[in-house]
Amino acid sequence: MDCLFCKIASGSIPVKRVYEDEHVIAFPDIHPQAPTHILLIPKRHFGSLAQTSVEDAGLLGHLLAAAAEVARQQQVAPGDGGGGYRLVVNTGEDGGQTVEHLHVHLLGGRHMGWPPG
Ligand code: 5GP
Ligand code: ZN
Repeated sequence: MDCLFCKIASGSIPVKRVYEDEHVIAFPDIHPQAPTHILLIPKRHFGSLAQTSVEDAGLLGHLLAAAAEVARQQQVAPGDGGGGYRLVVNTGEDGGQTVEHLHVHLLGGRHMGWPPG
C-alpha cells in the first residue's frame, strides 16, 4: 500500500524509533511543533480514527498507554521531570489530518494553549 506511515512502520523508510512494541512504533515528527513532538502509529493500517470501531478498542487503548510510556521516557510527564503534555489525533480534513494513517501526536516541553487553532 502506498502509505507513508506504513512504509515507516515496515522500515522501508528509516526513522529514529524512540519506542517500539508488537503493535506500535513512535518516532519524532519531521516538523516539530513543540520541543517534544513524537508521533505514535499502529503498525496496522487505519486511514484515521474514523476507520476504527469498538472492536479496535484494545489496539486504541494500547496506543494511548504507549503514548503515556513515551511521555515518561521523554521526561514530559508530570511528576517525571516534565510539566505535562498533550495528545492530538487529527481526524479528517476539518480535523487537520494530512497523513492518512492513524497517528497520535505527543506534544510537550512548552505550555499548550486552549482552544487549539
Ligand atoms: P497530521 O497533520 O496528519 O495530524 O500529522 C501528520 C504529521 O506527520 C505532521 O505533523 C508532519 O510533520 C508529519 N510528517 C509528515 N511526513 C513525515 C515524515 O516523512 N517523517 C516524519 N517523521 N514525520 C512526518
Ligand atoms: Zn498506513
